[in-house]
Amino acid sequence: MNIAEERIDRLHDLAREAASDRDHERAREYVRLARRVAERNRCGLPKAFRRFTCDDCDAYLRPGVNARVRTRAGGRVVVRCDCGATKRYPY
Ligand SMILES: [Zn+2]
Repeated sequence: MNIAEERIDRLHDLAREAASDRDHERAREYVRLARRVAERNRCGLPKAFRRFTCDDCDAYLRPGVNARVRTRAGGRVVVRCDCGATKRYPY
């Protein structure tokens, strides 16, 4: 793991903690910062990070707090952010 990846990992943890405290603005700042680090270093974002962040409003998604998760037939998960955006991925 290089320094950029470590930073992203750390920002991911901070975003998750902020979202747990329902401090969604702070969580967004960490999410945006992590995206910038990934862009600048061209290292991409970890799968878990992409799954738990909203592409539309940059929120860090916590199921039951600011996101709803549903499982669909065929092995797909649908995550809906409070802003109305949804994302789907296989599990
Ligand atoms: Zn959103």
